[in-house]
Amino acid sequence: MTSNARTPVIAGNWKMNNTREQARELVSALAPQVKGLSGVEVCVCPPFTALEAAKAAIGDSGIALGAQNVFWEEKGAWTSQVSPDMLLDAGCKYAIIGHSETRGRFGTVDETLATRLAYFGETDQTINAKAHFIMGKGLLPIICCGEMIDERKAGKTDEIVSGQIKACLAGLSAEQVAALVIAYEPVWAIGTGEVCESEEANRVCGVIRETVRGAFGDSAADAVRILYGGSMNDKNAAELLAKPHIDGGLVGGAALKADSFATICKAAAA
Ligand code: PEP
Repeated sequence: MTSNARTPVIAGNWKMNNTREQARELVSALAPQVKGLSGVEVCVCPPFTALEAAKAAIGDSGIALGAQNVFWEEKGAWTSQVSPDMLLDAGCKYAIIGHSETRGRFGTVDETLATRLAYFGETDQTINAKAHFIMGKGLLPIICCGEMIDERKAGKTDEIVSGQIKACLAGLSAEQVAALVIAYEPVWAIGTGEVCESEEANRVCGVIRETVRGAFGDSAADAVRILYGGSMNDKNAAELLAKPHIDGGLVGGAALKADSFATICKAAAA
């Protein structure tokens, strides 16, 4: 548990990895290692096609299920989209929204900016629409924010991150904000092996908490869980998770190996 009784969350973002069989194997190897851990909430976020297989393998281990995206409409002519009811039906508790990769803000791919934005055009406004709609349905968002390397070099990290958070949370109630999860993910640290130094990650998570305090008050700011994401692994997790404003991790690459992911979950429980 963190010092102020926020239960940390360790969420594995599998991205576009794992067939149903691979999902079953990964969760079956993870489940016995995290079953019974207290003081941490463990979550896996497979691709849509593997949600059901992962759910079956979760069994009674207590692992929560999350999706990697969701849409803000109930149903209908929205080709390719998935609704919160569909995700709840598949057993999801959480949905990641606003990941930098769905915002078209990549750290390491070669496509042109125009191509990225054409395919991955998530904005603060669409993230906000999703947050409102899915919370009304009872699905909890994990809302991502974070700066690109050029924004950091220009000294704009705090401005970018707090602007994203204010826009993504706009119009929610303080109770809703207290219940959701925020992930601070510096884009330059995602999938690069270049983790944000723990003091700095904690500082930016503190900036996010104060942004929430300013907009929604003390109870929301003290309750909302703020995760760090970006090259977190079994070696660096303990130091990051010991920081007072870091309430868990959103983990990509290291979530694809049961042993590494379990080590991170154990570090959060410790
Ligand atoms: C992520 O995809 O959210 C992420 C943090 O990835 P990685 O851990 O691989 O940097």
